Amino acid sequence: MTQTKPKSHSTPHRQSQGGKDFRKRVQRDKQHNDDNATAHVVGKPRAGDAAAKPLIVLREGREKSLQRRHPWVFSGAIEYIDGTPARGETIPVKDATGNFLAWAAYNADSQITARVWSWQERDVINKGFFRQRISDALSARRTLGLLPACVRGTGGEGARIIHGESDGLPGLIVDKYGDVLVMQLGSAGAEHWRETLADILQELCAPVCLYERSDSDGRAREGLPPRCGVLRGALPAQVEVIENGLRFTVDVAAGQKTGYYLDQRDNRAFTGLLAQDKDVLNCFCYTGGFSLYALRGGAKSVLSIDSSQEALYLAQANVELNGLDASTAEWQCADVFEALRKLRDQNRKFDLIVLDPPKFAPTAAFAEKASRAYKDINLLGFKLLRPGGLLFTYSCSGGINDDLFQKIIAGAALDAGVDAQIVKKLHAAPDHPVLLSFPEGAYLKGLVLRVA
Ligand code: SAH
Repeated sequence: MTQTKPKSHSTPHRQSQGGKDFRKRVQRDKQHNDDNATAHVVGKPRAGDAAAKPLIVLREGREKSLQRRHPWVFSGAIEYIDGTPARGETIPVKDATGNFLAWAAYNADSQITARVWSWQERDVINKGFFRQRISDALSARRTLGLLPACVRGTGGEGARIIHGESDGLPGLIVDKYGDVLVMQLGSAGAEHWRETLADILQELCAPVCLYERSDSDGRAREGLPPRCGVLRGALPAQVEVIENGLRFTVDVAAGQKTGYYLDQRDNRAFTGLLAQDKDVLNCFCYTGGFSLYALRGGAKSVLSIDSSQEALYLAQANVELNGLDASTAEWQCADVFEALRKLRDQNRKFDLIVLDPPKFAPTAAFAEKASRAYKDINLLGFKLLRPGGLLFTYSCSGGINDDLFQKIIAGAALDAGVDAQIVKKLHAAPDHPVLLSFPEGAYLKGLVLRVA
């Protein structure tokens, strides 16, 4: 076990670095900064006192977001940084007058220069701190009945046990697939505490394997290289998750994300309830999630499309694993954008369509291009539906909010020449909570629409 001792705050009740001298220095620095207008234009923090203790000081007025408990400090909000903090090091963030705001993990290579661990000055960010946060996340899920089996040998159900910022642990994702835990580190701060986090998860959850899948796209934006492999224990030859009685094989090492999409659990179940006697089209089917529920729900036929042949092999194996009737299932390895056009040209019609594409807009900067892609597939989806048909449409893009998504879908219906009603709004399952002060946590939005 390796535990990194935080350099800069070894006592719980430290002296604040505020006071007269601090204010004088901020004023002097502000003067210097006003003389150098380009620093504001480019929005880059200027250098602080390299010899001082590491510390972030925000520009005047830029403390508001932190005071509302949003856990990100963007580089443009920073007046200056004292010291030479290491990547991932915990340092204090202060407002322009020297008042303590938060303890945060530093990363000079990210637009998000710091991510908050704690709002309490008395907190010490160490193993005990992380053990408490992880225990809290586990007990929250236990209370909600979402963690029936987190202990070795007690079953194969799945749950997201740590959901990053919304569990007070920015950059840390942990998914549980039966006895196997998969950890994804997406920030320099989480990466800094990698071994400590692994030890705590081992202590509290005793998995047969703790596997690391730190290879999300977001890591590149953080300046972190991908890293995958076994962290603790040994990876079983076959990893399985049981979801509402259905069994899914999870490719922990090479599958997407941490191997499976737990966030859609409840939405898949809802689709299954409505699938009876329907011709179903499942686009972006991955390992068959929605398809298996539709088959179990008595669908007349299920056509599933994905561009990943590996995912489709697993999907077909999953149908077999569950003893479902494979004769009503059709699989296509294709680009959905092209496949939908072909189906339109063939005049194929469906009663229920699922569109669950990958993240088209990881950030707001991609929103416009992503909007066109969402509109395109939804317009085609509407055209393929029979009257009275149901469209289950999703976006997991952080850069597209609920309102924009609904507008895109409204535009698609209009252009497709159909009248449609929203019959249900959907979100990620409750083991993916959304911290009220962190709306970005509500990345998954779905609409169930019924065409007239
Ligand atoms: N609905 C799935 C998860 C979908 S994830 C579930 O419930 O488990 C998104 C899927 O889209 C991935 O499997 C990926 O391989 C697939 N994909 C990405 N781009 C695609 C494209 N242009 N055409 C078809 N499939 C695509």
